Amino acid sequence: MNWLARFIGSELEFPLRHRVFNLLALVGIFIGVSTSISNLLLGLYSEMFITFTFTVFLVCMYYLSMTIKIFPAFVTLLFMAFVFYPAMWFILGGTSGTVGMQMVVLSAMIALLLPPRRRFYFLIVFFIMASALVYIEFRYPDTVLEYHRQSTQYINMWSGLIISCLANLLLVLLVINEYNQESARVKLYLSQVEAQKHEINQQARLLRVKNQELSEAYDKAEQLNHMLLDEKAMLELVSITDGLTRIFNRRHILHCLEMEIARSREQDGPLSILLLDLDHFKSVNDTYGHLAGDEVLQQVAQTIKNTVRNTDMVGRYGGEEFLVLLPESNLQGAIAIAERLRLNIAALTWNYEGLHVTISGGVSEFKHESMWIFLNRVDNLLYKAKANGRNRIENDSALS
Ligand code: GH3
Ligand code: MG
Ligand code: MG
Repeated sequence: MNWLARFIGSELEFPLRHRVFNLLALVGIFIGVSTSISNLLLGLYSEMFITFTFTVFLVCMYYLSMTIKIFPAFVTLLFMAFVFYPAMWFILGGTSGTVGMQMVVLSAMIALLLPPRRRFYFLIVFFIMASALVYIEFRYPDTVLEYHRQSTQYINMWSGLIISCLANLLLVLLVINEYNQESARVKLYLSQVEAQKHEINQQARLLRVKNQELSEAYDKAEQLNHMLLDEKAMLELVSITDGLTRIFNRRHILHCLEMEIARSREQDGPLSILLLDLDHFKSVNDTYGHLAGDEVLQQVAQTIKNTVRNTDMVGRYGGEEFLVLLPESNLQGAIAIAERLRLNIAALTWNYEGLHVTISGGVSEFKHESMWIFLNRVDNLLYKAKANGRNRIENDSALS
């Protein structure tokens, strides 16, 4: 069918309807030329003139169609259907001529080109017109010019029949060919879609597996992160805690004191501290052993922690010395807490025969001096408590 594409346009250039139009225009030209030649040979000069005019019309239509001027081509076609052919009917023998056959091809051509609804209207109009032509011939036989010779009529009929059959055959072949090509394209497209679907399903399966792996890895990372955070928190706690007594170590309690001094300066709020030291602790170690000494340190530290508020801070300042920070406590409040502590510790009972533990301490309120002067003041008060007989708390209220 490739040779055909050269005359009626390729599939890429023209839609099917357009190509059918071109094909039928070509067939029409062939009919026109052959009829003109046969009329010339038969000596029918007036008929030859008409068929030649018809051929010129068709050539124009074919040219317009091939140069994609479909509208004027279509107008020419309608002109032929409703003006030229009816005129030919009366000139070329009516029902006994070939015009009827040619009109069958022409009507098929126009019907194919039209959209469904217009096609229906066209066929009705064409049917009425054809019926009218037959009826006029029947009622007024004189209006139709008869063939001069019977042989002329038979030759004309024979050629008309052959050419009409050929035109219809070409038309059907073209449509079937077009249909086959389209269905092959659809099959190919469907198989490609199926292959793509398969590929997509495989990718989706892979993605699901990857997703599962990723979420497992994510869970593992999350777990590790939690463990690390716990570890970090534990390390932080260890770094600020005294190993024996579980209260703050010296470094951290001093850091807290620094913070509290800064806060007190900023807010001008009260801040008191308490320095406590176990009395004659060396003899506890000497009499009951070092382990007993450790146990005493642990018990005393816990008692201090349990006696003060949650917001107060307790740290191990030295071997058997404890520093207690009392934010928001003035000297009077701090003295009361210190006395309570002293009494609570003195009231502790021990599993060691004859053991009695007491503490001495110094209490002081912050007076906007430096930290070391503040600490020195409370240390002096502790020294004073020791000097004044132990198991007592000294403060500097008399000095202030
Ligand atoms: P004072 O009443 O004057 O304070 O007398 P003291 O015996 O308590 O004074 P000193 O400072 O001479 O003795 C402190 C003792 O505390 C010395 C040391 O053996 C003991 N000590 C310090 N740290 C620890 C510890 O972690 N465990 C034990 N068991 N004893 C400790
Ligand atoms: Mg001591
Ligand atoms: Mg001491």
